[in-house]
This record gives sequence, C-alpha cells and structure tokens, in this order.
Amino acid sequence: MNTATSPRHPTAAASGRGITLLLLLLGMVLLGFLLVSGARTQALEQIRARADANLSRYIINLQHQLDRHKDLPRLLASQQQLIQLLLTPEDAELADRANRYLAWVNDTMGATDSYLIGTNGITLAASNWDQPRPFIGNDYSFRPYFQQAMEGGGGRYFALGNTSRVRGYFFSYPVTLAGEIIGVTVVKVDLEDIEEDWNDPLQDILVMDEDGVIFISTRAHWRFRTLSPQPDPERSHVVASRRYGNHELSQLQNIPAREPARALPAGLTGTDIERIAASQRYGDAPLLPLDVVRREATPEGDLLLTLIDSAPDAEQLHPQQTGHYLLLSRLVPDAGMRVAVLASLRPLEARVFQSLALGLTFYLVLAALVLFLHARHRLKKGYEAELQLAHEKLEQRVQLRTRELTDANQRLQQEIELHHQTQNQLIQTAKLALLGQLSAGINHELNQPLTAIRHYADNGRKLLERGKTGAVATNLEEIAGLAGRMAAILQPLKEFARQNGDNSQQVSLQQLRQGVMVIMGSQLEQQNAHIFWPEDLARIRVQGDIGRLEQVLVNLISNALQAMAGQPAPLIEIGLNTGGQRVALSVRDHGPGLADDVLAHIFEPFYTTKSAGLGLGLSISHRIAHSLEGELSARNHPQGGAIFTLALKRGQATTQEQP
Ligand code: ADP
Repeated sequence: MNTATSPRHPTAAASGRGITLLLLLLGMVLLGFLLVSGARTQALEQIRARADANLSRYIINLQHQLDRHKDLPRLLASQQQLIQLLLTPEDAELADRANRYLAWVNDTMGATDSYLIGTNGITLAASNWDQPRPFIGNDYSFRPYFQQAMEGGGGRYFALGNTSRVRGYFFSYPVTLAGEIIGVTVVKVDLEDIEEDWNDPLQDILVMDEDGVIFISTRAHWRFRTLSPQPDPERSHVVASRRYGNHELSQLQNIPAREPARALPAGLTGTDIERIAASQRYGDAPLLPLDVVRREATPEGDLLLTLIDSAPDAEQLHPQQTGHYLLLSRLVPDAGMRVAVLASLRPLEARVFQSLALGLTFYLVLAALVLFLHARHRLKKGYEAELQLAHEKLEQRVQLRTRELTDANQRLQQEIELHHQTQNQLIQTAKLALLGQLSAGINHELNQPLTAIRHYADNGRKLLERGKTGAVATNLEEIAGLAGRMAAILQPLKEFARQNGDNSQQVSLQQLRQGVMVIMGSQLEQQNAHIFWPEDLARIRVQGDIGRLEQVLVNLISNALQAMAGQPAPLIEIGLNTGGQRVALSVRDHGPGLADDVLAHIFEPFYTTKSAGLGLGLSISHRIAHSLEGELSARNHPQGGAIFTLALKRGQATTQEQP
C-alpha cells in the first residue's frame, strides 16, 4: 500500500479548514479596516475640498455685497443737504428733500435702507420715509454702529433691524462740520438673499459675529444661536493647516486665510448676553447654544462636530436628529464676522459603507473562487491518486492471475506428462499382455503337434518292437509332417528374432515380382485391385534373401490393400530407382496416407491402428531391411496416399537372363 496516496487524516483536514477559515476572517477584518480608513480619508478629503470651495464662494459673494456699500455712508456724510438738515432739524422742507434724496441713493445703490441720525441718536431722515414703518424718529443711540461713528470712525455692524426685524449689515459714518460731529449717516444692507440662493443641501453656511452668535444661517432655526466651544486649553494646541492655508488664493481674491478651529470664540458668558441684549442686536432672541455633543479637531485644524438638532419642522417626525459635521471657518477681517461651512458627514458614511460593501463582496467572491480552485485541485489530486491506486491494484491482480495461470499451466503440463507416462506404461503393459497372449497362442499351436509327435513316436517304438515296420513308416511320415507344420508356425517369429540375414544371394527383381504375385494373386483379385510393376526388372539384381524380400513386399502390399479397403478399384504402383548406390523399390497406394503420429511410431513392434492387427508387420520388415544392409522408410506422397521405400544393396549385374 502506497502511504503517499492514502487520504489525509480527517482531523488534520478539519484543522486545515479551520486555519483557512481563520485566515479568511483575518483577511476580511484587515481589508475591512483598510477599506474603512481609506474610504473615510478619501471621502473626508472630498467633503473638505467642497466645503472649502463653498466657503470661498460665499465669502466672495459676501464681500462683494459689502464692498458695494461700505463707502456709501461716507459719501452721504458729505452731502450738503443732509448737513443742512442736521443743522436745522425742524425744517420740514429740508427733511422732505433729505428723505427723497436718501430714497434715491438707496434705490440706485441697491441698499436696503439709508438714513441720517442726529447726535442724540434720533433718526432725522430715512429712505423708507414713505414705507409702513419708517425709521424717522427712532432712537438708535444704543446701536454700536452709531456709537462707533460718534467716536469719529466708520462703523460696521450687523444686527436684526430694530423696526424691520430684518437682519442687516450696517455701515455708518460721522457727519462733521468744522471738525465737529453733527450726525451719523447709516446704510443697511440686507444679507438674506444669500441664504435664499444657497443650494448645497449637504453643506450649510453660517455667519457668526465676534461673539460667535450665528446671525446668518442656511438653516433658519440655527439663527441667533451659538456654536462656540467652551474654553478648552488643550484645543489651543491645534496647529493651523498648511494644506488649507490658501494664502495665495486669499491674497489674489482678497479672501482671508482660514483660521484654525480654536479661533472660534469661547462660549457666551452672562455678561456677554447682557451686553448683546442691551445693544438689541438680535431683538429678544435667547441666544442659546446649539446642542453640540462632541467636538474633535482634525489634524488640518478643522472641527468635527456631532450635534443633536431639533429642527422645528421636523419636530413631529424626528424630534431629535444626531448629525455629524465637518466645520471649516474663516474670519472676515474688518467686517467683524466669521463665516463657517458646516458640511454633513452623511456622504462619508455612505461612501465608507459603499466601499466596504463593494470591497468585501469582491474579497468574498475572490476568496470563494480561490477556495473553489483549491478544492478542485485537491479533488483532482485525490482522484489521480485513487486512479493510480486502482491501476496498481489492477496490475497486482493481473500479475497474480498470470502467476496462477502459469502455475496451472505448469501443473497441467506435469499432468499431461504424467498422463503420457501412464499411457506409455499402459501401452507397455498392453503390449506385454499381448506378448503373453501371443506366447500362449504359439504355445497352444506348438503343443498340439508336439503331443501328436510324441504320440506317433511312442506308437512307432511299440510297432517297431512288434516288428510292424510298415506302420512305423506311416508314423514317421506323420511326425515329419507335423514338424514341418511347426516350422511354418515359427517361421515369422524366427524372422523377427533373427539379427543377420543371409546376404550372399543375388536376387533378380523379376524373380522377386513373380514370387510376390504368386502369394498375393488371389487377394488382389478378391479386392479387384491393380498393381503396376516397372519394366526391365529382370536385369536388376539385389543382394539378399528371396524369401525374406518377398515377405517384406507382401507385407507392404497387403498393408496398401488394407489402407484402400472399400475402394472399388484400388491401385498400387511399384516404383524403381536405380540411380543411386542402392536399388530402391517403392510401394505407393491411394489410401488416406500416414498421420504424423503414425509416422512417428510406424516401425515400432506392436504398433498398430487396426483392431485385428498385431503391429509386427512393418517392424519385422524394417529389421529384415536392416539385416540385408538395406533400409525401409515411409512417407506421404504429395498427391495423397502412403509411399514405402525399400532400399537394397545392388547385386552384381548379370547377362544371364532369367525367364
Ligand atoms: P498391422 O498391419 O498389424 O497393424 P504393421 O506393422 O503392418 O501392423 O502396420 C502398422 C501400422 O502402420 C498399421 O496399423 C497402420 O496404421 C499403418 N500402416 C501401415 N501401412 C499403411 C498404409 N499403406 N497406409 C496407411 N497406414 C499404414
């Protein structure tokens, strides 16, 4: 068994899976972390850039609006008719002319209101003289812009209009005569249309005064509230951003550089509130702070705020909404205000969520793909190992089977061998039995004449004692006859036993033919057989014994006749070949021929295929041929039938012709 291909231990595989899962989870957490922080940074960057652009845009608009009107009070202060009115405030005609003049200038310049105040703070003339609630007669001595002008300089101030309740920015300038202040000119600019035109739903504009009170806000309910942080010594360390310094931009466009968040004024104190209330800047607004629950300075010096907002219009549905914001602010110098953009961080959350979802989905798909490929690879490897194992098993089985078959084959061969041996033994036994039978037969055949001979001999002796010589002669004749018969019986056996023949005789083939034909004639006739002899047999002689040569030929011819038994006209051809050293006589028949098996044993004694055969004929013939220094061989004729060839020693040629 090949251990390398055996499956892994189940607990090892399980722990492998556990580690994979753990790694997968770790990867997911790490990726999630990277995605969140990456997306957050990127989104915050975008929000900040947009907020910064909004801030710049708003400040440019604001400054443009203010710049258009800032010099107007000074211009008005130099107007003779206004000075005249200040000198003679009771002059109704002068007042009327001043009103009309102010209205004309106001309209022409696109200001909201323009008016003239006496040194006591009472308004003498106003552009809105013909409006429902004109300023004329109102006392503005409490207004800081009046007080500033009365001190000799140009005043700038924004506040809620005392009469109009409209928020505005006030420019003031002292009217002087011979170095003495005799009144104040004021131009009010409405800043509300900027709020109305604002169209960025995710970012809000806030304009705060130096106390941090929001007086312009794209969210109406934030007006007159404060955003200022409580004084915090730690925050004073926040470094101003170099990235958002915007120095060049601010110089080119006359935009002040953005200040760090710590520039926001500290929260309002009680005295602050009293002071503001006295100036009636924001009417009776309570100036409550917004509900900022968390503030955090960014490395860039901006503020991240979390505030709980209770918008009056959302009061029923969402009484309180927590919002996260990025606050960017810049002080507008010489205008006494700070502009801020409050950018909602909602897009950031959405963005983080989006990239997290996208990234994790991608990661999971990728992980699933990797796991799938890995599993497939392992499966394939397992399959290959199994295949290899099956292959090896098959090979082993084939080898085993082959070995078994080889063994079985060997056993079979041995059995066949054994069988052959047994068969040979049986044949030998049978042959011995046959020999016994033959001996018994010969014994029987010879016993009878022998008994008879003894009988005749005994009888003859008695007859001789009695002198009956005639009868003795008869007995002796009988004995001679019987002896002859016995000799005849023993004749073939004698041939069989004899080793050497008498080779001295010269036998003419013609003589041999005649002898054979005498013996075979009647049998040939009986079977209607024909035998063809070659010509010129008389000239040829062979060395040998005529009787034994006859015996061989008779034997061959009778075998041929037996092979052709059943044929209507059996044909035997005798061939002669005198070409070589020897003289060869052949006997060919037209029978079935000799099978290989038969050919192998044909000259063995007692080999026979016939039920009544002794199997001695050919074996004796073979011995005779040998004893005559000749040879007997057997083969098949190419055209069918058997052919036996008897090769003999050539005899001396003779001129003596035999009849
Ligand atoms: P037997 O004739 O008693 O069988 P033989 O020694 O004469 O003994 O012959 C041995 C065997 O040879 C025969 O049994 C026979 O099978 C085969 N045989 C001999 N002569 C022929 C032949 N001319 N054609 C076919 N078979 C032959």
